[in-house]
Amino acid sequence: MDKYEEFMALTSQAIGILKDMSKRSPYDMASDGMARKTAKNFTQLADVLFGPTDSPRLQRESVALAEERELSLEYLEMVEKHAKKLQKRGAAWRLRAELIAFEGTFEEVEAYAKKRVMEEGGDKPKQRGVRLGRVVDGLRTISITDTQRRITDLEKTLDAAVENDNDRPRSEALLEPFWDLVKGNGTGLIKPEYRTVIAIGLDDFAKVSCGKGEDVIVALSDGTTMTGAEFINAAMEGSLGDKLYVGLFHPTAGPVNLYEARFASDKLRTLAMAENLVCPWPDCNVPADRCQVHHIDAHKHGGYTKPSNLTMLCKYHNGVNDDDGPRKKRKRPSPGKPKRGRMRRHRGKVRLHTPGGKLVGNTHHVSSMGAMDLI
Ligand SMILES: [Zn+2]
Repeated sequence: MDKYEEFMALTSQAIGILKDMSKRSPYDMASDGMARKTAKNFTQLADVLFGPTDSPRLQRESVALAEERELSLEYLEMVEKHAKKLQKRGAAWRLRAELIAFEGTFEEVEAYAKKRVMEEGGDKPKQRGVRLGRVVDGLRTISITDTQRRITDLEKTLDAAVENDNDRPRSEALLEPFWDLVKGNGTGLIKPEYRTVIAIGLDDFAKVSCGKGEDVIVALSDGTTMTGAEFINAAMEGSLGDKLYVGLFHPTAGPVNLYEARFASDKLRTLAMAENLVCPWPDCNVPADRCQVHHIDAHKHGGYTKPSNLTMLCKYHNGVNDDDGPRKKRKRPSPGKPKRGRMRRHRGKVRLHTPGGKLVGNTHHVSSMGAMDLI
């Protein structure tokens, strides 16, 4: 067993560890070398699991189940983070019991927990508004929360005003265009034309076209979503452009077309955007509008410029993707730099092939509304 495996074995004994912690003071644990804040978090969690409660039976059964399932400290802390938001008598323990019994990955459980807390009224939806922060190191921060459409229109206006300067971080590049806009220099907020790709299934398109699309939500390659009604309005205002492109996707082969050239043409680019409306790297949220065309099998290794070999990747992930991949062993691995894995098409869909051999998709809500997810 190497140290990592020992660590993982210990991780599965969280209930036993917390039980021992429940007999200790956080200050004693701090004097053993733990951060006081961490020690307090652990003893508070131990109190919840082993201390007095309004639901003793549910507490007992859930603790036993958590031990049997070998849940980690990290998992139990996540459960607690969400459950403690519920104030009604018994509600917190009902949610803890549900989450401890939930079968799924850490991320799936967390997504479910957020949904349940929202349903039970433990979290209020974000409020629209402008918030101003205090002075820190001579600087202040302003944050604006508003509808996705208004903020995205603002973003596109600022992006359009950025002079091509690829070396500057985006936040810095957007600053002067922002002040120019506030001062009224330039033409004001642009009403963007949707050169942006909209992915919609044929069934939904039929519904939306005859005005019955109230419940239809379509996703766009700028990372936002639109209702069927907004979609029709955009079409009426002419902001969808005068042409409608139809991409053809096969459920297992991916995008279909016959086109081979070195540089992805506009058509291929559009098709790739419709497939993955955000960068398909797991946990990435860069919308396809700001992504680059990536050859899944690198062009230098004979990969074709055809739809099934193309995907959009953000600049960063295009850079870290391991083009040489596991299929070709390098003579000397570059020391100290872990491999990040590479994009692959698996059963039609673009996935990250991790160095450990797992296939992982992006679970971003817009990513899961792309063309390949509509069929
Ligand atoms: Zn990315």
